[in-house]
Amino acid sequence: MTMPLVTMPHARRYPPRVTEFTRVFWDALVDGRFLVTRCAACDRHSFPPKPICPYCWTDAILWEEQATSGKIYSWTRVHAGPAIFEADLPYSIGIIDLDSGVRLACPLIGEVQWCCGMEIEMVSVIHPDGPFFGARPKIVSHNRYIV
Ligand SMILES: [Zn+2]
Repeated sequence: MTMPLVTMPHARRYPPRVTEFTRVFWDALVDGRFLVTRCAACDRHSFPPKPICPYCWTDAILWEEQATSGKIYSWTRVHAGPAIFEADLPYSIGIIDLDSGVRLACPLIGEVQWCCGMEIEMVSVIHPDGPFFGARPKIVSHNRYIV
């Protein structure tokens, strides 16, 4: 289950804080794998990855690779954003429900008419200074979406 890799020519606008714990997640992104944490005690997923389960507070945490398909739960188009993202304006951000049940927020990649319920695939976005992730329309057989 590897994600497509999308290359960006510029550094990440707001680089994430990488800790010893989250390095596993960021390194997997470079390999095109999307990981979340799953609690060994109550079996629930958490994202962003957490060293302690937010539901039962155990530290018995496992890393689990996710399917990279899902649907847009909600989205917005940003026309006036923080100064550090000014070069990207306008851009779209989505709330994604992965098929595994994990809900997350991420940039939407591509110039398309986004809509709630749209099928997406997660992509690993490779910047010169490190990886990030995003979602783009899932390519369907009848070419309904332009990527
Ligand atoms: Zn738990």
